[in-house]
Amino acid sequence: MYIKKQIKGMTPYQPGKPIEEVKRELGLATVHKMASNENPYGAPQEAKQAIQAAAADPEIYPDGYAAELRQAVAEELNVGEKQLLFGAGSDEVILMLCRAMLGPDTNTVMAVPSFSQYKHNAVIEGAEIREIPAVHGEHQLEAMLEAIDENTRIIWVCNPNNPSGAYINEEAFVDFLDRVPENVLVVSDEAYIEYVTAKDYPDTLKLLKEYPNLLLLRTFSKAYGLASLRVGYGIGHEELIQSLDPVRPPFNVTAVAQRAATAALKDRSFIENCREQNKKELEKMTAFCEGQGLDYVPSQTNFLLIHTGVAGSIVFNEMLKKGIIIRSGEALGYPESIRVTIGTEEQNEAFRKTLSEVLEHQQAKL
Ligand SMILES: *Cc1c(COP(=O)(O)O)cnc(C)c1O
Repeated sequence: MYIKKQIKGMTPYQPGKPIEEVKRELGLATVHKMASNENPYGAPQEAKQAIQAAAADPEIYPDGYAAELRQAVAEELNVGEKQLLFGAGSDEVILMLCRAMLGPDTNTVMAVPSFSQYKHNAVIEGAEIREIPAVHGEHQLEAMLEAIDENTRIIWVCNPNNPSGAYINEEAFVDFLDRVPENVLVVSDEAYIEYVTAKDYPDTLKLLKEYPNLLLLRTFSKAYGLASLRVGYGIGHEELIQSLDPVRPPFNVTAVAQRAATAALKDRSFIENCREQNKKELEKMTAFCEGQGLDYVPSQTNFLLIHTGVAGSIVFNEMLKKGIIIRSGEALGYPESIRVTIGTEEQNEAFRKTLSEVLEHQQAKL
């Protein structure tokens, strides 16, 4: 069998450990999963009801055009319905963009460390990857611009960046957009936009009107609490979106996901509460880091990258034994760091207590 040569040696995406697996393996009754930036407050009540209702007719294919959800999102964001491209998670929109635009003899520019799926999908398409190291978790936009040449098709901006939580402000982003050649697509991945509180975060929906080569990625997986249903979307100029649409698999977003996402959009207070609660809990986390003398990257998201000075895999394993699942920075490009999702008050307290114990124990060994 012939598999594309660039796929040999690749590994599938390594997700955070599932709760049930950890409970079973370690015989723990309570496990806190603070690894995948899921919403610790669950999903809006209306979305849960919509899931029940939509589950009643599983024999019917979903609406491939996602008309109801499309209309709801278009209204919510004040964009045209034909400016939207839905995917089974924004992961699938990333896949579609790569499939439509990348191949051998093309290249794509991204920050490193950043979200893994840009590179993963681009490699599969046989494109050359140009990775520009992030500094203190921040995109180096100047260096990214310099990496562009006549074969560059897509430049990825993860704002705020995962796994660092750092963001690019409006002034820097506009200056960047002004200098990207107009035939290069700028993807602004905004998976955590609902959590952003910085006043100078770019108004990308407004910028979209001025820059036809800009495409925004949003998702229902994070603040909206619908990660298990897989629904996200791209927003771009109508012409661009329409030319990408043939790549989309026919029934890619399930009916349950469409109905739940449509219902979730209606609950504005849910998102507002989550944002406020997250901000409060994030502040407690950073205060804890400062108290412990631990460096961290200021975050505009529901996660925090903390430099512990100990191998990430050790901290990960020690925390795991005590029932707290985090991400080791090793797999994310920060070997002596961990990434923790901001959880509920109770989860965050458990995290802080356990991390202090683990680090104390590690230091005692030195
Ligand atoms: C979680 C995440 C996504 C993907 O989310 P989906 O569940 O596929 O919608 C995309 N980008 C970033 C930066 C993320 O953290």
